[in-house]
Amino acid sequence: MGQIFDVIVAGGGPAGSTAARTAALRGLDVLILEKSIFPRYKPCGGALSLKALSMLDGPLPPRIQERKITGARVHCRDLVLERHKSYEITQLIDRSAFDQYLLERAILAGARAMPEKALGFLDSGEWVSVQTKDGVYKSRFLIVASGCQDALKKEIAGPESKKSMGLCLVTEIEAEEDRIVEHLGSALDIHFSVAGGYGWIFPHRGYYSVGIGGLSSSLRHPRQTMRRFLRDNGFSQDARLSGHLIPQGGNRRRVAQGRVLLAGDAAGLVDPFTGEGIYYALASGKIAGEMVGDVQAKIVASSYESRIEKELGRELGHALFFSKIMHRHPRLFLRILAREEQVLERYLEVGAGRMSYSDFMLWLLPRLPLSLMRAGLV
Ligand SMILES: Cc1cc2nc3c(=O)[nH]c(=O)nc-3n(C[C@H](O)[C@H](O)[C@H](O)COP(=O)(O)OP(=O)(O)OC[C@H]3O[C@@H](n4cnc5c(N)ncnc54)[C@H](O)[C@@H]3O)c2cc1C
Repeated sequence: MGQIFDVIVAGGGPAGSTAARTAALRGLDVLILEKSIFPRYKPCGGALSLKALSMLDGPLPPRIQERKITGARVHCRDLVLERHKSYEITQLIDRSAFDQYLLERAILAGARAMPEKALGFLDSGEWVSVQTKDGVYKSRFLIVASGCQDALKKEIAGPESKKSMGLCLVTEIEAEEDRIVEHLGSALDIHFSVAGGYGWIFPHRGYYSVGIGGLSSSLRHPRQTMRRFLRDNGFSQDARLSGHLIPQGGNRRRVAQGRVLLAGDAAGLVDPFTGEGIYYALASGKIAGEMVGDVQAKIVASSYESRIEKELGRELGHALFFSKIMHRHPRLFLRILAREEQVLERYLEVGAGRMSYSDFMLWLLPRLPLSLMRAGLV
């Protein structure tokens, strides 16, 4: 029998690198299997919220930080609202450089990384065998952090209906820095008038990230919708589009069994309203890395499930409730935004992580018409 690692991490994105670094810093023998050679392109808006930034133990290198964001401009039919906070709520980052930086930090902490795809695994009860094209690796624990589209997670979470998944299309469009600053400055541009979903224009350094997202069941003809969104906002429709599925967080899923833990997108941990997933990837990766280092094997799965539910799942449940109300009833959403301008102001605090979704909902509920609340609950 060859070497048995303490932990194998399948996937070296934000969740996997964070899990690997956390476990390696605890003195564990960690192997990361990552199928792509970094830096690799990852379809993303590149918005890293204040709460995600606070998960990193240290400031990001300046080459990764592209713009500090203090507010949002929201379009809903003819209504355009812009609000800013006196502090930074989000940073726009170079996503591929960010992921490479996190992976390098995991390696610096002592994790080993192999450029291999994990094809499947078997949990024997004593250890986990992970199959790759070149052979089998063994470990005491497996952390599956291979994202939303990979099949490994199904062994634990079961099959997921594509209809309940989110879908995003994104492109990057180069522009003069002066033009970007004049156009958006330090605001995220969010559009709720996209058929079946929402659109975004984020002012990165020297380029825009432009995208649309929504539930795959409601975002019909996504490529056509995206081309219309580009045209309506003065961009060329010939841009190269990248599409990606995204899980809808807030629904309870199994995230661990035996010696296998799911983290990040593989565990379905994404804000269903904004599509923010990096924070949840970092947070769940950290919890997974701590669990495999600190907790007895026979209670790792149950302890991990309860920490994920307590620290992330409940909050995502509130986010899902809010998302259902707002995305399913855009006209009512428009009425609320028009009448209660403070909604956006408050929501920025949620985005920054200074207010929880549950506190936000407590603040918002008395301001919602009863019919809307009922509609959101169906
Ligand atoms: C278009 C779009 C825009 C988004 N914008 C934002 C945003 O602005 N802000 C935000 O916070 N979130 C955003 N998200 C969500 C965010 O990108 C994800 O939530 C986040 O990447 C999840 O991190 P992860 O580590 O779980 O998975 P990933 O980042 O997907 O990483 C998984 C890694 O696993 C590797 N892999 C896959 N299968 C295997 C395998 N079998 N074996 C080995 N390696 C494997 C992949 O190559 C990849 O490197 C966006 C998502 C999309 C689709």
